[in-house]
Formats: sequence, structure tokens, C-alpha cells
Amino acid sequence: MAEPKTAKPIKKRKVKLDENLLAYRGVWVFIESERGHVHPVSWELMGQGRQLADQLGVELCGVVMGVPGPTLEAQCVSAFHYGADRCYRVASPVLADYRNVPFTRALTDLVNAYKPEIFMLGATTLGRDLAGSVATTLKTGLTADCTELAIDPEDRCLLSTRPTFGGSLLCTIATLNYRPQMATVRHRVMRMPVPQPERSGLIVDFEPALVETDIITKILEFIPDEMRDKPQLPYAEIIVSGGKGLGKGENFRLVWDLASVLGAEVGASRAAIHAGWIDADRQVGQTGKTVRPALYIAAGISGAIQHRVGMEGADCIIALNNDPNAPIFDFAHYAIVGDCTQILPALTRTFGAYLGKTQKEAA
Ligand SMILES: Cc1cc2nc3c(=O)[nH]c(=O)nc-3n(C[C@H](O)[C@H](O)[C@H](O)COP(=O)(O)OP(=O)(O)OC[C@H]3O[C@@H](n4cnc5c(N)ncnc54)[C@H](O)[C@@H]3O)c2cc1C
Repeated sequence: MAEPKTAKPIKKRKVKLDENLLAYRGVWVFIESERGHVHPVSWELMGQGRQLADQLGVELCGVVMGVPGPTLEAQCVSAFHYGADRCYRVASPVLADYRNVPFTRALTDLVNAYKPEIFMLGATTLGRDLAGSVATTLKTGLTADCTELAIDPEDRCLLSTRPTFGGSLLCTIATLNYRPQMATVRHRVMRMPVPQPERSGLIVDFEPALVETDIITKILEFIPDEMRDKPQLPYAEIIVSGGKGLGKGENFRLVWDLASVLGAEVGASRAAIHAGWIDADRQVGQTGKTVRPALYIAAGISGAIQHRVGMEGADCIIALNNDPNAPIFDFAHYAIVGDCTQILPALTRTFGAYLGKTQKEAA
């Protein structure tokens, strides 16, 4: 598979913003929460939003939505710690749990009242649902699943880059003549900022005009996600991943063994999943999870672009492959050329002995 090509830049049309659109200022981040639990992608977007807002010389604002009470207040405080200057607090008993209609209504009213130039949401199930309906209601542009966001210094436009055509091209999209410019970003694509507890900001209350009897969807029961408290691949610090180069399903055990010694999560390429060697929820890549661990060990994985986009944000990538020309060696930090079914057990033994010794010394 060829490397993705960035589309040859085409001269953009001149931006023609009428006075009404020129009134749009500031960068917003939707702070997604479920029953008080904020999705980490919101804080990752705050980090990215801070950079964009600083470049534009405008405020970074968070938007929290839910039932009135201390939880929303706490979320505003966290938003300030992660970089927000201001938080819009949208509180109503109708916003108890996510439903598209009341959230879209409240959010579009808020946008029309305060007019942000950029509005970002996480590309989560909720974020994708909400961003689409907000953008269509506002009749503005939305770029989904962005991997990079930047500001065009010439005209202040948001440049949203995302993979297209199955990952073989990267395209950069700009919403020239409509505002706000909307984008969704998957979690772990942007780096998590370091919270600064000394930061504070301004809370602006917005009372949405919502009446429960106007909303036709009703929540009958809330069933929490069983996976929520389990360790999750996107947030793992160390990941050992296996690919087709392991040769057969039984050899995947070698990946689990090394992961267990390192206290790591286990990932896989799509080819390994298609072979039935491991569950689909461990797939890393374009159609799987995006990960950003401190250490990513890839065993018998070629480094196809669809895998690469999901893991290239790792701080350190160690690749094990018996082909010295494997594409993964083009971007891995360390290359081990050889048979992964022999190297994996050697790493497991070596790390096991080393970590056992350091644990004994610490005791
Ligand atoms: C729309 C689309 C979406 C996709 N999404 C994803 C995705 O999310 N994630 C993903 O992973 N893929 C995805 N793919 C598939 C992707 O293109 C590749 O086919 C896949 O990543 C290849 O997996 P692999 O590297 O394990 O297998 P292969 O490409 O078969 O590579 C196996 C590698 O192992 C090496 N090898 C062989 N034997 C050994 C040995 N004994 N020791 C060491 N190395 C050995 C080989 O040299 C080779 O480099 C997608 C494809 C498409 C079209």
C-alpha cells in the first residue's frame, strides 16, 4: 500500500465573509460527559483548541451541558485547568441524558447567541451524532474525523485535514463562507494537555428554551457500558501488537506473554483479526482504535498506512519484522530484523528477568 499523498494544494477561493459572519469569534470545545463522567477527548481538544485560539488571538471556550447542579460547575473548573478562558454552562433537567433533539436545539441556540468561529467536538458516538445535526441545523460546514487542525495565517480559516479514499490520500478541508467552522476529532489523535490547577476562567450561564413535553424521544432505562471501567486500549501506556507475520493463531500467545510481563495492553492489525486470532475490539488503525502509548511494540506487522494512522502518535515504536524493507521500519524508532516468533520470547525472558530483579531491589 502506497504512502498517503497530501493532495496538491489548490489555490483557495477568496474568503468572502459578510458582516454577520465576521461577528463570529473564538474557539469552542464541546465537553462531552455521560452521567458526570467527562470523555477524555474533550480535554485533548482543549489542548488543540488552546493552540488555535492563541494563534487567532481569541478566547478558548468550553461548553458543558446537563442537569443543573455541582457536576456542571466541576466540569467548568476542569475545563479552565485544561486551558479554557470561559465556559458556557447550559443547564436544564431536559438535558439529563443525551438525546439528539434537545442537545441540538440548545447547542444551536447557544451558537447563534454567542457566535464562535471554530467549534470542535470529539468523534465519539455522541459527538458524531450531535455534530452532524448541529452543522446541518446551522447550515455550516463540518469536517469529520480530522487528524490535524491548523489556521491559515492569510485568512484565519480553519484547515481541517483528514484521511480520505481509504487512507490513500490526506485532504485538507476549509469552510470558507459559513460559520462556525466545525470539526470532529477522534480520541487519542491530539495530545492530552497537562492540567494547570492554578488556571481559572469565566462561567457564562445559558438557559435553553427546552420543554420536556416537546421532546418525542424518552429515555426508558440507562444501561452503563460494561467496558467502561476496564483498561482501554486507547489509553494504555504500553501496547504490544501482533500481525499476520506471527504465522498462526497459537503464536499470538507470544504477544500476550510479553504484554503480561510489561503490564501492557494487547493490540493487533486488521489482518490478524481477520484471521480470527484475536477479538476485533483490539484492532489498531484507521477502522480500529487510535492509540498514543509511551511504547508500542509491533510484532509481524507490515506498517500499512491504515495501521500506521492509528499508532504513529506513540512516543516510541519498536518494530519486529523479518523483512528489512518492511514499511514499518520507515517510521519505527527501533527496528529488530528477524523472526518475531523467536524475538518475542527472548524479549519476554529478558524483560521478565530485568523487571523481576528491579522489583526485588525495590522491595
Ligand atoms: C479501508 C481499509 C481500512 C483498514 N483498516 C485497518 C486498520 O484499522 N488496521 C489495520 O491494521 N489494518 C487495516 N487495514 C488493512 C491494512 O491495509 C493491512 O492489510 C493490514 O494492516 C496488514 O496487516 P499485517 O501487517 O498484520 O499483515 P501483512 O501486511 O500480511 O504483513 C505481515 C508482516 O509480517 C512480516 N513477517 C512475516 N513473517 C514474519 C516473521 N516470522 N517474523 C517477523 N515478521 C514477519 C512480513 O514481512 C510483513 O511485513 C485496512 C484496509 C483498508 C482497505
